[in-house]
Amino acid sequence: MSKEQVKNLVELKMNALEYCAKRAAKGGKVASYNCPECQAELVAGLPDDEKERWTSATICYECGALHSTVKTVHGVTAYSAKDTIGS
Ligand SMILES: [Zn+2]
Repeated sequence: MSKEQVKNLVELKMNALEYCAKRAAKGGKVASYNCPECQAELVAGLPDDEKERWTSATICYECGALHSTVKTVHGVTAYSAKDTIGS
């Protein structure tokens, strides 16, 4: 990774942690899960509504790998991009 990429990841991580801390402070749901690429523990905000299901492409703030996540009130499921791209 270049210095620029590392700097971006540091910012991404700070933003994610700050967002989750604010969310948790307001009584929102926050969960941790493991990056499917580097196994680092990542934090993410969860939906508050049982009916909601958030799917998104997420960049790991530890290794920079793209992965997809599905977030529900029950937690986060992460999929390696290698498993979903081209399938
Ligand atoms: Zn990672």
